[in-house]
Amino acid sequence: MTVAEARRLAERFAVRAADHDRDGSFPADDFADLRGSGLFGLMVPERLGGAGAGFADYAAIAYELARGNGATALIFNMHASVTGALSGVTDELGDALGLPPEALEARDRYLRAAAEGSWYAVAMSERGAGSRLSQLTTTYERTAEGFHIKGAKTFCSGAGHADAYLVAARSAADPAQVSQFLVAAGDGLTVEPTWDALGMRATGSHDVHVDVTVPETALLGGVEGLAVVIAQLAPQWMVASYAAVYVGVARAAIDAAVAHVNARNLGHLPAVRARIGRADAAVAAAHLTVMEAARRVDENPGDTATNRWVWRAKLVAGTTAAEVAASMLEAAGTSAMRRGHPLERIYRDARAGSLQPATSDVCADWLGVEALGGDPDSQGSAPRW
Ligand SMILES: Cc1cc2nc3c(=O)[nH]c(=O)nc-3n(C[C@H](O)[C@H](O)[C@H](O)COP(=O)(O)OP(=O)(O)OC[C@H]3O[C@@H](n4cnc5c(N)ncnc54)[C@H](O)[C@@H]3O)c2cc1C
Repeated sequence: MTVAEARRLAERFAVRAADHDRDGSFPADDFADLRGSGLFGLMVPERLGGAGAGFADYAAIAYELARGNGATALIFNMHASVTGALSGVTDELGDALGLPPEALEARDRYLRAAAEGSWYAVAMSERGAGSRLSQLTTTYERTAEGFHIKGAKTFCSGAGHADAYLVAARSAADPAQVSQFLVAAGDGLTVEPTWDALGMRATGSHDVHVDVTVPETALLGGVEGLAVVIAQLAPQWMVASYAAVYVGVARAAIDAAVAHVNARNLGHLPAVRARIGRADAAVAAAHLTVMEAARRVDENPGDTATNRWVWRAKLVAGTTAAEVAASMLEAAGTSAMRRGHPLERIYRDARAGSLQPATSDVCADWLGVEALGGDPDSQGSAPRW
């Protein structure tokens, strides 16, 4: 899977994006393309039939896909996060963490299935708790068959279309333990269609009600209580993976503005030219920030300096997307505000970037605490996770 192939798919996504946005419908045709190109196996090791991509490969591809349709790229990001995080638990790390062999076998099964065409959604967030793992109210209990999980999730991108869902829940027996499960679609997972949002409408990020019994091997890692530890040690999939998506959305805003300005012969206007020039520089800078974070994630995952770049990347990407899309709309003028115009959709999609956790405000707080010599993971004004 190459960046050139992602560009080819993005052109197809762009043609379909307006309809999916208007209807809030899942981009099934885009997902068929992703499956056809083998992209569900992007983060899967080669020994399990995947492409064995690193984080920087993912970021480069997510950026291109988002230039076609940010919503498609965002749903795909959830799948890449699940498979990327699972692949990150190497046999060596598993041994060091004392993970049971059955958990590593289950990891391989889930990853091989992805390489063969399955895809996974993330059902972590809850109303009132957002994605703060420490505040979740969905609980699980051990049973003779494995675990029984019960609760309500919200903002689940691609809900109703995935083959399985990563569900985060807290132990009823020991509420300090927050664990993650991979739950197959089907009985016990019910989608409530609640997503009618300003932007990223085609993500179909609906509510999901969970009342399901899963086998022991559905517990990711095979050990309870790993969720918060992993979020702190390797924040890239929780914090920065959507950064590449939103920089792609920002670049799409420039692409749409340039097409519009050229079609209407507005390019001679100095203010229009300067807006496009500033936007180009801002997006190039955000892209470099994301790629620098991604390079460091591949070279030194979990390192203090790497994590600092991860939080910078999310902050810069979210803020840049919203600012650039607003400026491009202003450069293009009122006709670009009509429903169905690409800029009108991209403007709304771009707005979601700094709202998605870690929000721009939370990223800025993390970076500020760190710059002032504090411990940004423990010294937030509220728990980070
Ligand atoms: C397009 C889109 C797709 C999504 N897809 C998924 C998905 O597939 N799966 C999933 O599980 N979730 C998904 N989410 C949800 C997302 O991950 C968050 O859980 C959700 O946006 C949190 O929303 P909230 O309203 O609870 O806001 P919060 O994150 O609670 O934020 C509300 C306010 O509190 C502030 N705040 C939050 N935390 C802190 C803190 N620690 N310290 C200080 N201030 C803080 C924020 O800056 C903000 O001003 C998606 C969200 C969007 C927008």
